[in-house]
Amino acid sequence: MSVTVRVPAKVNVQLGVGGLRGDGFHDLANVFFAVALGDEVTATPAAPGTGTTLTCTGPDAGQVPLDDSNLAARAARLLAAHHGIEPDVHLHIAKDIPVAGGMAGGSADGAAALVACDALWALGTPQQTLLALAAELGSDVPFALLGGVALGRGRGEILEALPVTGTFHWVFAVADGGLSTPAVFHECDRLREEAGTGSTDTDVPTPDADPALLAALADGDPAALAAALTNDLQSAALSLRPALAATLAAGTEAGAIGALVSGSGPTCAFLAKDAEAAEAVAAALTASGTCRTARATHGPVPGAAVRTG
Ligand code: ATP
Repeated sequence: MSVTVRVPAKVNVQLGVGGLRGDGFHDLANVFFAVALGDEVTATPAAPGTGTTLTCTGPDAGQVPLDDSNLAARAARLLAAHHGIEPDVHLHIAKDIPVAGGMAGGSADGAAALVACDALWALGTPQQTLLALAAELGSDVPFALLGGVALGRGRGEILEALPVTGTFHWVFAVADGGLSTPAVFHECDRLREEAGTGSTDTDVPTPDADPALLAALADGDPAALAAALTNDLQSAALSLRPALAATLAAGTEAGAIGALVSGSGPTCAFLAKDAEAAEAVAAALTASGTCRTARATHGPVPGAAVRTG
């Protein structure tokens, strides 16, 4: 009767941030990479007139809003409205993605709810329509549908799948407490003003994907990818949360070949040379006391998909 969808978290292996646009957004060159750490959203039929109800479990469940602002609930209502049906469904989120961690957990749940409700209500919505509905929900939601590795332009929602070879091994150091994405963008603008470079889209060149990074992904070369990792929001995240410098240093000392803040932070992402090295880096980071916990994982993995079996 119910449908469960598994959905990945993302790390941005490149996050190029352009200047502030007149509409308040920034142009991005955003290379998304889907990792095996993820949430599960289960859609269960509900009686007519019940509307969309939500429950959530997991270590960060207390920080997840269970009201109409939850992206999973918004996704269910948007899909129902698109088809002219009632959004009667119960959604349960088994949350493993850190909340407000820069890993697009809310966006992932939105994508998962679209796929789960589409299957539960037997709607057969074409993928292109699901991607358009996802973009209405938020800039990071379409990528959670697609998975793999993709270049996001515009606000991040115009996606192009990228070729990638093999599996890369990651470690994520989860911080205590989140960082607000708008606050981190605001701090990025402020630091640019302070540095005298200006912060608008006439001051800052439009960012583009780094050819060396794209080649490293296509070649399946972890050392080359490690050397090419960049995040234009990193200095802003470090400015708001200076303790992250110690987390980045601890992972590098433990043998990570690459380290960066994930998206708007405060989760830090580390690239390891293989699965064994990733386990060792995760153990060392957890023991270092510079993060709440550290998790070894891998990617790329597919986007939101119904769990079978
Ligand atoms: P991004 O990387 O896309 O900037 P993030 O990973 O930093 O996002 P989220 O975990 O998506 O942050 O949470 C940001 C805020 O979104 C939360 O503080 C919460 O108020 C809200 N939110 C709405 N729906 C959800 C959801 N399903 N799960 C978690 N947070 C949600």
